[in-house]
Amino acid sequence: MSDIVKIFAPGSVSNVGCGFDILGFAIDGVGDEMIVKKNDQHKIIIESINGYEELPTDPKKNVAGVAIQALLDDLDSTQGFDVEIFKNIKPGSGIGSSAASAAGAVFAVNELMGKPYSRLKLVDFAMKGEAVASGDEHADNVAPATLGGFCLIRSYKPLDIISIKAPADLWCIVIHPQIEIKTKESRALLSSDIPLKKAIRQWGNVAGLMSGLYTSNYELIGRSLEDHIVESQRKILIPEFDELKLSVMEAGALGCSISGSGPSVFALANGIDKANVIAAVMNTVYKRTSIEYKIYVSKVSEGGVQICE
Ligand code: ADP
Repeated sequence: MSDIVKIFAPGSVSNVGCGFDILGFAIDGVGDEMIVKKNDQHKIIIESINGYEELPTDPKKNVAGVAIQALLDDLDSTQGFDVEIFKNIKPGSGIGSSAASAAGAVFAVNELMGKPYSRLKLVDFAMKGEAVASGDEHADNVAPATLGGFCLIRSYKPLDIISIKAPADLWCIVIHPQIEIKTKESRALLSSDIPLKKAIRQWGNVAGLMSGLYTSNYELIGRSLEDHIVESQRKILIPEFDELKLSVMEAGALGCSISGSGPSVFALANGIDKANVIAAVMNTVYKRTSIEYKIYVSKVSEGGVQICE
């Protein structure tokens, strides 16, 4: 068994319009790389965080350290690990920057310990890490980052995660304005009451989205990508949100909403050509602002976190 492993853990879009706190999908091509190595010191050492050095290296404050500790506690092991993190997503992104670190860390440690746990069980440990970032044990980013594809968190107690394969031509376009919105702050904006009429529309859309994903019905996916509850309360945090959404919908997006708690905004499209047009439209809207941004065009990641060859 090797003592060192390098992994890639993908970013993820959570909420996906109508599925606040219960839905997420992993995105290809952008995420964390990590090198994890066994040590003889019986300690978790976050050696370096390349890209965002201001993140905590204290293993009790870094999501990677907390998630690893949760796994080791369950195994009753005092094995130590050195962790190097190469971050490609700015924290506070809405595209699962912290979740990528938590999911990647437990996946790597599981490999080095001889794979005692299934990927599904790893989600449990990654959630413990994610709680450091968002205040609660959410799975809507760590589950897709670990398992790939779309994930529906049907229940938290007990944890019940349903994996859904994405339709073959479903593409995702994400714009990430380089401003930070912390999940904790974005949650504080939300009212805890939902009028019944709005709730009915919302669960109709969740069911429609599920059906559309299973049957590769792009038109139904598009009709169902509506959020009547959270988007209107949170969009004030995102510069140019209304214009961005209007423009991408005019350009033929299936739907568009806030990714996670923002500031990232995602759209879905049928096919790469449409996805590239939508990315160009996002670019046109944002280049008029003085805000720096990144745009990603990607398929839904099929496999989630993986070993780098
Ligand atoms: P995101 O959607 O980008 O994960 P969150 O607000 O959920 O945004 O998480 C960002 C918070 O998590 C920041 O306060 C950051 O300091 C903290 N954090 C701790 N460890 C990490 C890590 N390894 N990667 C990213 N963020 C981390």
